[in-house]
Amino acid sequence: MRPVIDMRGIHRIFETEAGFAHVLHDIDFTVDPGEFVAITGPSGSGKSTLMNILGCLDTPTSGTYLLTGLDVAELTDDELAEVRATQIGFVFQNFNLLPRMTVLENVMLPLAYTDCPRAERERRAVRALYSVALAVDHYDHRVNELSGGQMQRVAIARALVNDPAIILADEPTGNLDSHTGAMVLETLHALRRAGKTIVLITHDPGVAAQADRTVTIRDGRLYHEDERHGTKTRRRDVTSPAEITQVLG
Ligand code: ADP
Ligand code: MG
Repeated sequence: MRPVIDMRGIHRIFETEAGFAHVLHDIDFTVDPGEFVAITGPSGSGKSTLMNILGCLDTPTSGTYLLTGLDVAELTDDELAEVRATQIGFVFQNFNLLPRMTVLENVMLPLAYTDCPRAERERRAVRALYSVALAVDHYDHRVNELSGGQMQRVAIARALVNDPAIILADEPTGNLDSHTGAMVLETLHALRRAGKTIVLITHDPGVAAQADRTVTIRDGRLYHEDERHGTKTRRRDVTSPAEITQVLG
């Protein structure tokens, strides 16, 4: 079985006014189709940076990323946009919805630049909202009239509207109370049962425990379950300025 996500030797170095920030170090990460993988780790350890690369919102400084077998670095901007639109649904901690638009309009948004006719866009949006169990009488409401849990379900519906194979969720329950968070999590489980591949960033060990597998990031390095205590020898890290220059190419 070919992994849907296959990262090798990923580094991410940001150039800042203060110099280089070497945020991700030599990340190897693969995910099989239909897997539910949790990513945990302390604040500032590089989780969102990794997630943004996974979602093709950012590009690595070095290393290779194969997404459904395609080398992301070799795609044109148009091809990348196409892959992003068809393969990936992204859910953010802060929902990233447009507050003045209605629920239905927000969910239809990813289809706006496709040649999908309006009636079909609406049909798909309704289907996505149905799958996150948001009551129909909310569809015409502006998003800023909703509760946090309802907003996050709208955000998940928006991520689903293209029927992507992969759902990437960056702390989707981080801004929700535990009851509402549990409902959002149940939605992700239902998607997983429907065959979606899910990568979820979470701070909550209880949530991580429900995934098929957990990986942990500390200081930009990824630890798999069996090597959390450093038992596996890792490749040498790139740290000196000369080596960073080498990585940057
Ligand atoms: P997490 O999601 O685990 O809390 P992030 O991936 O957001 O962590 O950030 C990891 C580190 O990378 C932080 O120290 C952050 O300041 C730094 N970082 C993230 N994005 C940038 C950027 N665009 N430029 C410079 N530094 C960044
Ligand atoms: Mg983050």
